[in-house]
Amino acid sequence: MDIRNFVIIAHIDHGKSTLADRFLELTGTVERREMRAQFLDIHPLEREKGITIKMQPVRMAWQGRILNLIDTPGHADFSYEVSRALAAVEGAILLVDATQGVQAQTLANLYLAQQEGLVVIPVVNKVDLPSAEKEKTMEELSALVGCRPEDVYAISAKEGTGVEALLSAVMEKVPPPSEKISKYRNGEMADAPLRALVFDSKYDRYLGVIAHVRVVDGVLKKGDKIHFMAGETGAEVLEIGVFTPERSPGTGLQYGEIGYVATGIKEPARVRVGDTITRYIDISKYRDIEPLPGYREIAPVVFASLFPENQDAYESMRDALGKLHLEDAAFTFTPEDAGAQTHAFAGRGFRAGFLGLLHMEIVAERLRREYGVALALSRPSVAFRVTFQDKHKEPITVYSAVRLPPAQEIGDITEPWARVEMVAPARFLGAITSLLTGAEGIITKAETLAPLETRVTDMAVPASRWDLSLTGRAGDRLHLEGEAPLREVIVDFYDRLKSISQGFASFSYTLIGYRTGDLVRLDILIAGEEQPVLGEVVPRARAYDIGRQRLAALKELLPKELFAVALQASIAGRIIARETIPAAKKDVTSHMYGGDRTRKMKLWKKQQRGKKRLKETGRVTIPPDVFFKLR
Ligand code: GDP
Ligand code: MG
Repeated sequence: MDIRNFVIIAHIDHGKSTLADRFLELTGTVERREMRAQFLDIHPLEREKGITIKMQPVRMAWQGRILNLIDTPGHADFSYEVSRALAAVEGAILLVDATQGVQAQTLANLYLAQQEGLVVIPVVNKVDLPSAEKEKTMEELSALVGCRPEDVYAISAKEGTGVEALLSAVMEKVPPPSEKISKYRNGEMADAPLRALVFDSKYDRYLGVIAHVRVVDGVLKKGDKIHFMAGETGAEVLEIGVFTPERSPGTGLQYGEIGYVATGIKEPARVRVGDTITRYIDISKYRDIEPLPGYREIAPVVFASLFPENQDAYESMRDALGKLHLEDAAFTFTPEDAGAQTHAFAGRGFRAGFLGLLHMEIVAERLRREYGVALALSRPSVAFRVTFQDKHKEPITVYSAVRLPPAQEIGDITEPWARVEMVAPARFLGAITSLLTGAEGIITKAETLAPLETRVTDMAVPASRWDLSLTGRAGDRLHLEGEAPLREVIVDFYDRLKSISQGFASFSYTLIGYRTGDLVRLDILIAGEEQPVLGEVVPRARAYDIGRQRLAALKELLPKELFAVALQASIAGRIIARETIPAAKKDVTSHMYGGDRTRKMKLWKKQQRGKKRLKETGRVTIPPDVFFKLR
């Protein structure tokens, strides 16, 4: 079988799904009358937001060859999944919008493709637009991938210009699949032990987990008994087939092919992206089958509390979370601790973990729409790792401030850091540098994205004046790399980056591991009462400022009471900031017209009693939305 496997990678909105549409049309995979824009964006949320969330593979036939294409989500939250899709193919079309130029996710995706050793075909898209800077973008892209500008393809995915030539280039430049391990080769192909890479999965009520696979070595057939190496789970192949792009059942898949395997497995967590499938019969025959490289356990990195808006909906919310988890095993959830986290105004809820902020938004939105759950989300946080003074105590992972042990017991706290990647016009270098510094981060690299010739002139500039020369040339665009705590990156870094760069900067981030931080727990007290859900883990050096900020925000958000309310921020029991909400002067008799003095007196008395009672219990009414607005 003559096969070519490839992906389309690009920054968000540069036209991946639209280009996929043209390929589907050109190859007659989808009838013209069935065609709709972004055909592979199947999910309603994808169609509405215009973004690809779920990878979608499709098999096309063209000029006697099988072409397997995987449309990928551009967003950094899904970069592990994308990296596994890249491991499932031999080539990548790297698409850049001619009106935008190379962007942060273009770079991030190119690195991933290079790591997998893929043949990269550089393409400039949207050349039909009047604002397209075709030549400039071709030069920029060629400098990036290291080819001549004329080797960059220029297309309009919308109008179809240049698309056929591009598909021919895929046929010509992307190598056919080869068995990656030759040591098992003893003549017969069918003799090779099976190794198939799971690059994605879906859940089906009847068929259980459906693994999306690339067969790397050997043959996989319906009825085979299979084994997931990392998931340590067995299954039988209930159905096997290819994507057209619907599932289209067949009898088997052989090395080089991309398709799906229905397993009947009811626990999605057992079928992991990046895992290797083998056959039981092969395990006994070849004892030393090695799992395919690159498998990583994906763990959520961003956590938030989810609360049903109406407490009666708690149980149905739990059901909905369970069902959604079947379809999206990457997000996790547990009920909040009854004591610590249950809150007077937020009520009972769940702590959920996500791959990133977009993932969080998608999960919340799907719960609202597909499961009809009215819910509110807390401020997102990261997971901290805490060791103890007492060396015999096991380190713990903490993802909400209330669970941070008392300061005197803590050995150290480490937190996730991210490498951030930004592309922006050079004139914003100063603003971006201070943004990153403010977020406790640093710039580690700055280089121009300008064409090669311009770079050469850079060499003439003494290194000491390099940065100055960069900022001096306002027309250039820069590729900036930096590092910052994920805690800062996930809150509103991107929004601020957009605003300081007038919308010009693009952004992407990847996790680079855990680092020690001088962190403390900041507690918020309202009328002397600690509010567990408002607690936060913050850097010691900025605790005072953050405490003041939070109190100022609370002061705005909380309604006035009939008595003054004290707001305090504290660290380890020591008050570091305070604010007071003055009492409201409310005339309880204002609704009464005319003279009944005794009735008025009665109400005034009642108000006095009320104030006294309120003072005694310190009871403050906190509207539920305060918690969620306080971000
Ligand atoms: P993706 O996020 O990379 O999958 O991008 P999409 O395929 O969803 O396209 C993003 C937007 O760009 C959509 O509104 C497309 O209609 C538009 N678009 C894509 N390709 C072209 C093109 O060649 N020319 C023009 N004018 N618009 C395009
Ligand atoms: Mg898309």
